Amino acid sequence: MDIKILGSAAGGGFPQWNCACRNCVGVRNGTIRAEPRTQLQLALRLPTSGWLLVNASPDLRAQILSSPALSPKELPRESPIAAIVLTSADVDSVAGLLHLREFQPLQIYATPSVRRILAEENRIFRVLNRSNPPAVWQDIKLDNWLALPDVDSSAKEAELCCRAISLGGSYPDYVSESLRKSLPPEEAVIGLTFLQGGKKMFFAPSIPSQSDLWKTAAHSSDLCFMDGTFWTDDELIHVGGSSKTAREIGHIPLGGPGGLFEKFGPAGGGRRVLIHINNTNPILDEDSLEHAEALRRGWQIARDGMEFHL
Ligand SMILES: [Zn+2]
Repeated sequence: MDIKILGSAAGGGFPQWNCACRNCVGVRNGTIRAEPRTQLQLALRLPTSGWLLVNASPDLRAQILSSPALSPKELPRESPIAAIVLTSADVDSVAGLLHLREFQPLQIYATPSVRRILAEENRIFRVLNRSNPPAVWQDIKLDNWLALPDVDSSAKEAELCCRAISLGGSYPDYVSESLRKSLPPEEAVIGLTFLQGGKKMFFAPSIPSQSDLWKTAAHSSDLCFMDGTFWTDDELIHVGGSSKTAREIGHIPLGGPGGLFEKFGPAGGGRRVLIHINNTNPILDEDSLEHAEALRRGWQIARDGMEFHL
């Protein structure tokens, strides 16, 4: 399995355009040791050719342009990007779909609830239907293995599969009350296990603190990409960016009692990588105690351009 991290930051990126927190000021001025990061985006190589995007970041256009493997090879328009799988309807997960509207046939995998939010309630995403053939929406059923498409139709068996589990999160605030009431809560935020050649990768950029549904999948994976949004629960309150805690907006903090590091524990022998890192998170400062602690606990801190092979 070949995986590229095209972007590693949470919504807003690093630095965030309107943020004057210590990290954002420090990376702008070069007064802390830290790398800028674009908003979270993963790409997986499909077994014979082509690429699968995991979510569609608001920074997707620039991320594609900086990745030669994702460049079109044939006239007139033939992107190697064949499919997208969505883990939620959050703006940061879906806004990049609008960058893919240039008449490119695509397969889009999502839970039926996320599809309804995008295809029914947000008419702007209908621009994806202008391609010939139009974008095809494929339903993700929770807890079932799903074969991912391969542009080489001669392949007899799907070599890359994925399985979704509910992570217990909630739908974004922008979803209307009436639609929200009709949607099953378990389809709001999913984690994905990808399986290829007997190796498993688990992806969970948004882990609510009230549920441990991610543990089995994370511990049994060879490589897991986990929610590294915040270090402390009150991080956004401290910088004046919000009146809500990390837990209230669907992210378990890394540190402290009941944090991700404590909950994950020493179990599992696979590699662990923190992704979706918010610009306020002290782990972004490579000289911080928190950065050192994450590494000491056996975690890698994602940066743009990282590649993994399983
Ligand atoms: Zn900031």
